This record gives sequence, C-alpha cells and structure tokens, in this order.
Amino acid sequence: MSQYDYDLFVIGGGSGGVRAARIAAQHGARVGLAEGYRYGGTCVIRGCVPKKLLVYASRFPHAFHDAAGFGWGVGESAFDWTTLIANKDAEIARLEGVYRANLERAGVTLHDSYARFTDPHTLTLESGETLTAETILIATGGTPNVDPALPGREHVITSNEVFHLEEFPQRIVIAGGGYIAMEFASIFAGLGAETTLIYRRDLPLRGFDDDVRKHVHAEMAANGVNFVLGEVFTKIEKTDAGLIGHTSGGQVLEADQIMFAIGRKPVTDTLDLEAAGVETGDGGEVRVDAHSRSNVPHIYAVGDVTDRINLTPVAIREGHAFADSLYGGRPWQADHADVATAVFTSPEIGTVGLTEAQAREALDDVVIYASSFRPMKATLSGADGKMLLKLVVDGATDRIVGIHVVGEDAGELIQTLGIAVKMGATKSDFDATMAVHPTAAEELVTMREPSARHTRD
Ligand SMILES: Cc1cc2nc3c(=O)[nH]c(=O)nc-3n(C[C@H](O)[C@H](O)[C@H](O)COP(=O)(O)OP(=O)(O)OC[C@H]3O[C@@H](n4cnc5c(N)ncnc54)[C@H](O)[C@@H]3O)c2cc1C
Repeated sequence: MSQYDYDLFVIGGGSGGVRAARIAAQHGARVGLAEGYRYGGTCVIRGCVPKKLLVYASRFPHAFHDAAGFGWGVGESAFDWTTLIANKDAEIARLEGVYRANLERAGVTLHDSYARFTDPHTLTLESGETLTAETILIATGGTPNVDPALPGREHVITSNEVFHLEEFPQRIVIAGGGYIAMEFASIFAGLGAETTLIYRRDLPLRGFDDDVRKHVHAEMAANGVNFVLGEVFTKIEKTDAGLIGHTSGGQVLEADQIMFAIGRKPVTDTLDLEAAGVETGDGGEVRVDAHSRSNVPHIYAVGDVTDRINLTPVAIREGHAFADSLYGGRPWQADHADVATAVFTSPEIGTVGLTEAQAREALDDVVIYASSFRPMKATLSGADGKMLLKLVVDGATDRIVGIHVVGEDAGELIQTLGIAVKMGATKSDFDATMAVHPTAAEELVTMREPSARHTRD
C-alpha cells in the first residue's frame, strides 16, 4: 500500500485536469482532484463554449438582412439578452454536470475546493484538510489581466464577468487586440451594441498573418465596430450615466460597460509553489519539459498554466499524454506543431501553420497564393463581406506550410485543412484535388498564379 492518500492528485478541473484525471483513473490509478470554482474550467464555464453560443446569437441580424435578397420578408425582430443568458446558463450547467459525472464514473475522488501546496507531496484544501499524493498535476489554467495601476480598474469587467451581465450594454468599449477582445467586439456589435475596441498597437490580432489582420480589421469596421488604435486607457470613471474611459490620446469614451481583454496570466500565485520548490517563468507559468514535467520530478503541469499554446484541445492532449505516459504504459507527447485554430469574429478566421512573415523568417523561398472575393451568397444578399484564402508554400519543397482563411465557416474549414498540413500536403496535392463546385473553398484548389514570391540569396 502506498504511503500517500492518492497516486495522483490533480489541481484544477478544467480541460487539461479533467482529461488527465479521468484517463489516469481508467488506467487504475487512485486519483483525487480539487476544483475551486466549477467543473469544466474556463472553456466550458466562461470561455469557448458560452462564447460560441453568444457568437451564434450575434449573427442572426446578418442572416435576417441577407434573407431579403432571397425573397424572404422576416418582419420585426427583437433581441432579449436575458433569454440568451438564461438559456446559455442552463446549457453550461448541463455540461458541468456531465463533466462531474464522467469524473465520478471513472472513479476520481472530487474535492470542491481550491488547493495549495504545503510541501512537495502535500496539499491543503480550503477546509484545512490535508491530502498527500505520490504525483501532483497542476492544471489551474489562466486568468484575465487587468492593468493593476489603472485608476478606476474596479469599474471594468473581464471575460469572467461578461457572461453574467444582468443588462445588455447598449454601449461597450473593449480594451485589447487579441482574439478574445476581437471576438467580443464582434459579438456585441452583432447584437446591436455601440461597440468600440481600443488597442495600443496599430492593428489588432498580433501574431496572425498580416493580410488576415488587415482584412478582419477592415470588415469589422465595416460591420460597425469603432476602432481606437494606438491608444490605451489612462483612467476609468463612474458617473450616473455610466462609465467614462479617458485615453492616452485625449479621447473620452462613454460606455455602459468597459471590458478588458488585454491578455491572460497563468494561475500560480495562489498555489504556494515555493512550498513544493516548483519553478516558474517570468510570466508566472510553470516551466515544464516536453513530458509536462516541472523541475520537481513528481510534479507535472498541463494547459494554460504552462503558457505553451493556450487552447482547449492542446490542454486536453497534454493531459491525456501525461496520464497515458505515467499510468497507461504508453508514453507519448502532445505535438505542438501546426495546431489549427479558429477565431470566431465576424468574419471568422481559420488558421494553421506559419504566417507569411514567419515563413519568410524560416525559409529561403516562400511562395504565396492568395485570393479575396465576394462569395456567391453575397450576389443576392447584397452583403459586402469578402472571403480571404491564403496559402503559404515552401518554394523549395512545394509543401504547404500555412493556410489562412477568413469568411463564413472558416473554423470548420481549417479543421480539415489542418489534416492536410499535418500530413505534409504539397501545393501540387492541392492542385491535383478536384474542386467542389459551387463552394467558396474550391478556390483553395484552383489558385494557380502566385500572388508573391520571396527568395533569399
Ligand atoms: C473568453 C475565452 C474564450 C476562449 N475561447 C477558446 C476557443 O474558442 N477555443 C479554444 O481552444 N480555447 C479557447 N479559450 C482558451 C481555453 O479556455 C483554455 O485554453 C483552456 O480552458 C485551458 O484549459 P486548462 O485546463 O489549462 O485550464 P482551465 O480550463 O482554465 O481550468 C483550470 C481550472 O482550475 C481551477 N483552479 C484554479 N486554481 C485552483 C486551485 N488552486 N485549486 C483548485 N482549482 C483551481 C479553476 O477554477 C479552473 O476551473 C478561451 C478562453 C477564454 C477566456
């Protein structure tokens, strides 16, 4: 019999922790898990899932508008935020129940509490109860940043609160230029709010392909999002009429809500990691190797708390690999290369592999194929939005090293395109594939003329 209460204790019941705990238990380990808030974690409770439900809601006005060109008279439409939030809450509660039930069915012992280290093998729960484990997995995720020095920071919300607003904000300002800020700007603009996005750089979505950034910025501006670029908030004030945000450029932005989405940080400062001797990096992330192992050999970490690629499917893979490797006799590692991902702005983005700029850094010969066009549906709907398709090709090998899509169903498209990139598809493979007509995606296999070629001597 082991000297410890558990073979494995998992801190955090989000995407990574739930998967790791469930698989380890199924492999026969005695597993405990502590979750201080709600099972399912950020993605299920206040991230991907509720966000996507809001995205669906935000796109109906466009559909109503588009319908007219196809002969439909849609009539008066009205939007009720309270109904949307109540229905979303019911679905999230259902999902949370599923997560909890799956863990219990697998034999994981659940502790509804935050946990912190007291020594390298011992954790303390909020009740004061202590638990010991041979191996400990940190899967505590991330949390939104708000500038701690900003006067009036107590008046702003983050993605944690936005899903629970009692009233629909008729005027909202979102600070930030990453994918979460941009998605919420699309959501609120789509739902009819007067929406402003303030971002300190000159173009949002840093890290994405530059053509994608320009395209989405222009389309969102055309869809009614007011962009204040190259500025930041210097002070937030609360008045009887709402909130006032003062900017570095001297602007005064009035709003019912101001939401900060300026990045996230790993949740490690509440774990008393010093008591276990676990090292963190500059951003507070747990430093791990390719096996998700920290500097303390029996302490591992997966998901956003390691700040590798902060996406749910990545956290799940890392958790699964950890559990199989330690308890299933099948060692493997999560592969972080060519991770396809979507941004649910309107228009939507799908992306996999290298941006044009990254490819030019890494390769001697880069060939670009790009096409921007009005999709067929727009001919009758009258919508102005354009689709963007872009292939980044290694000129030396003909291999497609990056694909970037903007437009309807880009997220669905990139899941499949990601397989092709992962398999090492070449431009010739795409050329050899028969088009599916009439679709927007057929352009992916019919582009023949490069739009640019960059060679290095
Ligand atoms: C608004 C938003 C939208 C997003 N959209 C997408 C998307 O569309 N697609 C995508 O792939 N990803 C998306 N993400 C990212 C995704 O949610 C995360 O990558 C994912 O949830 C990471 O999983 P995780 O297990 O590392 O952490 P989390 O899911 O954050 O889970 C960590 C859990 O640990 C708990 N916890 C923290 N400290 C303790 C403690 N001391 N003791 C016990 N429990 C503790 C927390 O309560 C939480 O439940 C989004 C994130 C946000 C914020």
